[in-house]
Amino acid sequence: MKIHQLISYLQQICPLSLKEDYDNVGLLIGDTQKEIIGILTALELNDAVIEEAKKLNCNVIITHHPIIFRPLKKITLQTYNERMVYRCIQENIVVYAMHTNFDNIFSGTNYLLAQQFNLTHLKPLRRLKDYYRVLVTFVPTQEVSKVRKALSQAGAGIIGNYTECSYNVQGYGTFRPNKQSNPYSGIKEQLNQEVEVRLEMRFPYYLEAQIIRALLGSHPYETPVYHIFSDSATQELYDGAGIIGNLPTSYNVQDFLKMVKHVLKIPFLRYTNTEKKKIQKIALCGGAGSFLLPDAIQNNVDAFITADITYHTFFDVPDSLMLIDGGHYETEQFVAEGIAGYIEKEFSSIPVHTSSVYTNPISYF
Ligand SMILES: [Zn+2]
Repeated sequence: MKIHQLISYLQQICPLSLKEDYDNVGLLIGDTQKEIIGILTALELNDAVIEEAKKLNCNVIITHHPIIFRPLKKITLQTYNERMVYRCIQENIVVYAMHTNFDNIFSGTNYLLAQQFNLTHLKPLRRLKDYYRVLVTFVPTQEVSKVRKALSQAGAGIIGNYTECSYNVQGYGTFRPNKQSNPYSGIKEQLNQEVEVRLEMRFPYYLEAQIIRALLGSHPYETPVYHIFSDSATQELYDGAGIIGNLPTSYNVQDFLKMVKHVLKIPFLRYTNTEKKKIQKIALCGGAGSFLLPDAIQNNVDAFITADITYHTFFDVPDSLMLIDGGHYETEQFVAEGIAGYIEKEFSSIPVHTSSVYTNPISYF
């Protein structure tokens, strides 16, 4: 199988457009026309991970943290990033990153972390705004199935376990073509009527460009009419930042902290005291998630576990919430294995390995 086939699958389960604006995700290094020999997933790249890939005969490395984040102006081996890029090119290794787009899909970073805590009743801590949009267009009756099919193939009309979902109601449209026009039907410079179907289909916002392309490519009119509305009422919104869930039982504060240390395999936790006696409803955000503190407060969770929390952020925490810094590496350590699992499930014949290199640059004393 070619590398680009793997990439199209990865982009299907984890669209690039779900990344945060500042991020750099997707294919970072390499030639995707080559055959896949083996895949290694890792939280990030370092020399040991590249050695591991070579030893395991892997020519594709998928990481969470992108090795090219800010633009590189030179590759002179002076910095860690430059050295890693240089080595991967030299070793013919393709590098692909699934970072904030993997944080923002429901089955991504935070879902994998939530599984470690056996959380139930999961929902995103902050939903992506107006995730769905609705396309409304008007198509002559005899052409509607063709347009509906094209829109379906572009990703419109998927609701839960159902595909090609659409709403259709017949009416008629009027139009007066001018001299320069090239109408599909009707007579120029006269008022015409055409029996049309009002076709409505829902789609996730990141598919908008390809949905419009599919519409314009399949619609018979010279200038098709269409409207796009945001569907903010739809409740089926699972993608978003962070995650909320319930622990299987409630914990007293001491036992909860012990359990968190155990799950995250971290020797120390930084946290704020809480007035609550029992902890059960918690929020998680692997990596730097301080920006979600207002959402954790609003959702009235007992504890919020994230990382990279600054001293002053701890002052913003109400007495009813325990804020925990669980370490950046520690809260994201399950990502590599999770990505490997998604690939193995889809392509059982390709060798997929999870890196066993401990890449955390931070030590504890
Ligand atoms: Zn991270």
